[in-house]
Amino acid sequence: MISVEEAQKTILESIFPLGLEKVNILDALGRVIGEDIHAGRNIPPKDNSAMDGYALRAGDTRGASPEGPIRFEVIEEIPAGSIPQKRIGPGQAARIMTGAPIPEGADAVVQMEDTRKGETDVTVFVEVKEGQDIRRAGEDVRQGEKVISRGEIIRPAEVGMLSSLGRSFILVHQRPLVAVVSTGDELVDIDEVLPPGKIISSNSYSLAALVLDCGAIPLQIGIAKDRREDLVAKFRDAMRADLIVSSGGVSVGDYDLVKEIMKEVGNRMQFWRVAMKPGRPLAFGALEKVPVVGLPGNPVSAMVSFEQFIRPALLKMMGHQHLFRRTVQARLTERIEKKKGIRHFIRARIRRDGESYAVVTTGDQGSGILKSMVRANGLIILPEVATTAKAGEKVTVQLLDNSLEWAPEPGY
Ligand code: AMP
Ligand code: MG
Repeated sequence: MISVEEAQKTILESIFPLGLEKVNILDALGRVIGEDIHAGRNIPPKDNSAMDGYALRAGDTRGASPEGPIRFEVIEEIPAGSIPQKRIGPGQAARIMTGAPIPEGADAVVQMEDTRKGETDVTVFVEVKEGQDIRRAGEDVRQGEKVISRGEIIRPAEVGMLSSLGRSFILVHQRPLVAVVSTGDELVDIDEVLPPGKIISSNSYSLAALVLDCGAIPLQIGIAKDRREDLVAKFRDAMRADLIVSSGGVSVGDYDLVKEIMKEVGNRMQFWRVAMKPGRPLAFGALEKVPVVGLPGNPVSAMVSFEQFIRPALLKMMGHQHLFRRTVQARLTERIEKKKGIRHFIRARIRRDGESYAVVTTGDQGSGILKSMVRANGLIILPEVATTAKAGEKVTVQLLDNSLEWAPEPGY
């Protein structure tokens, strides 16, 4: 038997980031950028007004107050998007809208609320300081400044920044194409007739969904019957992917054809017994150059193993620096018995409990019980050495989604 870490390490050591591709910034959302972005221009490009008001010379407002207002001649109106035509001289002002460029000669803006508009003039009731309500050219971004670094994840804010710099395309890491092959004579696809003794191949879909959830692209190869020709054909079909995930046929007591075919079609196949539950059997190797991970067939074993071994590998391929799910410490609310020597991944529901977290299991932990996976938002991880975990104990929980970050109320 090998440990979860050993299996993880061996897999990750033979997985490498894919190359880069140029994509539109909206398609880059959630992906890892493969280039540094330096600003090609100042943002904002010119000094401009932060307010609707009047651009003028700050010095000319000295002494202005509600009791002793000062009148200015209004020589121009500057809507946003226009270019000022006139220079502001002593005692003059230009009516200016938010975002419009500051005219020459002016060094401050007095906001509308502190003025009263006349026919061809304006009355100003306050003193303003030099620079007041002026947004300086380059105050957001200076030309040449590095604004996004290679390796960062593109979020809506980065999309906004890139667009304001005029960058509609950027280099990001490619998304791996991941072939999903389900094996087993007992399997039929969702829409096929379901004869007695057969089951729907839910792994074909849960695994494809896990692939999508990582940001990769599933290639649903479908079901391979436990027959030599069919297995060979399906695995060959899968070889145009960047990684192959199969389910079923790797257990010890199994109809061993899948293992045999894997050895035959590929090379360097290793068949492990990983010290974990669910998901003890695991195959790893390559079909020619394409990495293959053979997951156990039981629906929960397949999903839990995917989480531990394939998700980090796919994130690595996509250029991510952080490959692992967050874990948090939570107070266990019930007693759990386990087998010594094996790491247990127990489906559970974790929730906030004051300043910390509480966690409860989601029911039957059989490796075919998908319902307890549906109810779970995390996996309690009990170490190999343990035989029990008591109610009230702190346990490690691997988060399976970001539901802990959601709130029913705004929270402010
Ligand atoms: P295996 O690892 O091939 O021995 O499969 C173990 C058990 O997992 C089988 O008896 C099925 O009940 C179940 N199973 C295997 N493949 C799938 C699949 N694609 N979808 C749902 N259940 C599966
Ligand atoms: Mg099988």
